[in-house]
Amino acid sequence: MANLLDGKALAQRMQAELATEVEQLQQQVGRPPGLAVLMVGDNPASAAYVRNKEQACTKVGIASFGRHYPTETTQAELAAEIAALNCNQQVDGILVQLPLPDHLDAVTLLNQIDPDKDADGLHPTNLGRLVRGEPGLRSCTPAGVMRLLEEHQIPLKGKQAVVIGRSILVGKPVALMLLEADATVVMAHSRSQDLSALARSADILVAAVGRPGLITAEMVKPGAVVVDVGINRVVNAAGKGRLVGDVAFDSVEPVADWITPVPGGIGPMTVTMLLHNTVWSYRQRCGV
Ligand code: NAP
Repeated sequence: MANLLDGKALAQRMQAELATEVEQLQQQVGRPPGLAVLMVGDNPASAAYVRNKEQACTKVGIASFGRHYPTETTQAELAAEIAALNCNQQVDGILVQLPLPDHLDAVTLLNQIDPDKDADGLHPTNLGRLVRGEPGLRSCTPAGVMRLLEEHQIPLKGKQAVVIGRSILVGKPVALMLLEADATVVMAHSRSQDLSALARSADILVAAVGRPGLITAEMVKPGAVVVDVGINRVVNAAGKGRLVGDVAFDSVEPVADWITPVPGGIGPMTVTMLLHNTVWSYRQRCGV
């Protein structure tokens, strides 16, 4: 059976360490780090994610400046809020919870966030810093993947990594981070031919697709490290919902050496890297 890449356990440990760090820094600086999570509308999944993030902030001592806006909020209103938060000295991180309602242009709003407060690492300046290998705020989910692999001392240098999915949010940045760690990286997507053969060539297989159970045992090289970023809600015949990943866990687990569970893998790491980014940005801005 594969070893578990237990994101939940690592996230708990990292959050406890962050709480101690924040307590010490706060005495030095005179204020806690601050994070503003902006949410628009009432998408239930987004509301749950935002609640999760705010609870995690409270746990480690980060002040929350978030606001929940009604669906009909305009682009100009949100742009004005972001401009105000950019100037607010108490705020070190700003995050716009996606997806936004259709009438709002998310990319324009994300680009209006001060890159040094871009807690989600999605501003073009921070993506550019990642491409160039410069320090900067890194996108939370990919950074969480890398931190979990590092924790378990998974060798990456010279290894074949296959990333399935090429979104700006996950696939592209995780591929760049694996490349930075000297893996040989292949990116696959919906137009890739023979996905099974590509996946089977991987020493490190990262699935960030959004298709429940897409990755089956036949697609995994024996002894591979399998990272499942996917979070999909499926409903059984009795109408009961549950979360599953992109990897058919039960069939893949006997083949892989290491595997992330869903839930309890990359999800908790994403929230923790958001807290980490906020504290990192606070340190940069306060020079501590
Ligand atoms: P996305 O923007 O929809 O991108 C999905 C990617 O998968 C696209 O690049 C798409 O290819 C590719 N794809 C779709 N069907 C495919 C197939 N049959 N074979 C191969 N590639 C296929 O999704 P995302 O935002 O990256 O999120 C991906 C998954 O991760 C979702 O389940 C999401 O909920 C989850 N997620 C989890 C966390 C976390 O904290 N754990 C954070 C973010 C996202 P094309 O580019 O060709 O369309």
